[in-house]
Amino acid sequence: MSDAKARRRLLGPADASLEASSQWTARGPVDPDESLEDELYGASLRPRSFEEYVGQRRVVENLRISIDAAKRRAEPLEHVLFYGPPGLGKTTLAGLIARELGANFRPTSGPTLEKPKDLVGILTSLDEGDVFFVDEVHRLGRVVEEFLYPAMEEFQIDFVVDRGAYAKTLKLPLRRFTLVGATTRAGMLSAPLRERFGIVQHLDYYPPEDLERIVRRSAGVLSVPIDEDAAQTIAGRSRGTPRIANRLLRRVRDYAEVRSDGHITKAVADEALEREGVDELGLDRLDRAFLRTVVEQYRGGPVGIAAIAATLTEDAETLEDVVEPFLLKAGFVSRTASGRRATERAYRHLGIATAKAEQERLF
Ligand code: ADP
Repeated sequence: MSDAKARRRLLGPADASLEASSQWTARGPVDPDESLEDELYGASLRPRSFEEYVGQRRVVENLRISIDAAKRRAEPLEHVLFYGPPGLGKTTLAGLIARELGANFRPTSGPTLEKPKDLVGILTSLDEGDVFFVDEVHRLGRVVEEFLYPAMEEFQIDFVVDRGAYAKTLKLPLRRFTLVGATTRAGMLSAPLRERFGIVQHLDYYPPEDLERIVRRSAGVLSVPIDEDAAQTIAGRSRGTPRIANRLLRRVRDYAEVRSDGHITKAVADEALEREGVDELGLDRLDRAFLRTVVEQYRGGPVGIAAIAATLTEDAETLEDVVEPFLLKAGFVSRTASGRRATERAYRHLGIATAKAEQERLF
């Protein structure tokens, strides 16, 4: 399964309002299904200014200072790297940087930049100060990555013409741009690439109160009436992730429209989320299947991610990127040198007694 597909299945679509905005000058290579869902549902939900961007105060403050300073000096902003789990707002922030700078936003993603020539076309068309966004920047091929170094550092690209004894390097100057990279895996970035980003910001999961604000804001944008406790319920089950909060809100809205008068009450939210397979702590079917595998097939671990992936017939990278970080953060699994272990909390949540508890019961 492709990353984009896996992500869509697990997290729901990313929305593409930036694409709809006037600053979205070039269409990045996007998965067609994903962009279709976005156009239909997600477009309006993406924050359009730093004021609308909920939470991540420290990151936003740091960015605003850097942007102000760059503007005062009339220089492009230094290259920015965002890292953190999917759906936390990295792409949104990249778009907001462009907006704040009054620059064009040029999005693309690592896996689609296969050859240096894919990059040349984009780089040479950038205007002074433009924001060139590379999602999944850890998935750039090595050759493309090396080609990017002089572009990032000296705003020029090197071409080798002819071969052997006649080989010459031509230097092509570029207009000074800002590269914004996003990755779910900072550890997979090569050191030379990482070092070329002047600003590095980590995005962490959102606390429930921020997610509640996001749910209420999105409900407002979608003109859906929602009770406070219903917004809390959705927020509390969104795995700390705005994209999931918005997706669950859309599912609950569907349910409220079909099963009642469209007003989202707590009872409606509870029913709809149960139907979606999202439990009271926000774990979905795949999260629970992951935990069950560790607990039941591997006696609580330790077990390697490849074995879990094989048992679930899922992609290991997807499990590592999308499923595991939240389970770790919420204390359902722990990572040891020999593999993943289920914690007591996981056993309790699944309603399975730990071996220790079972022994205590028997003796
Ligand atoms: P990432 O690039 O990290 O995967 P996105 O920037 O695509 O995440 O964000 C996913 C969705 O979540 C966006 O479409 C946006 O609607 C919503 N979102 C993300 N961060 C915020 C935030 N801080 N405030 C409000 N909505 C947000």
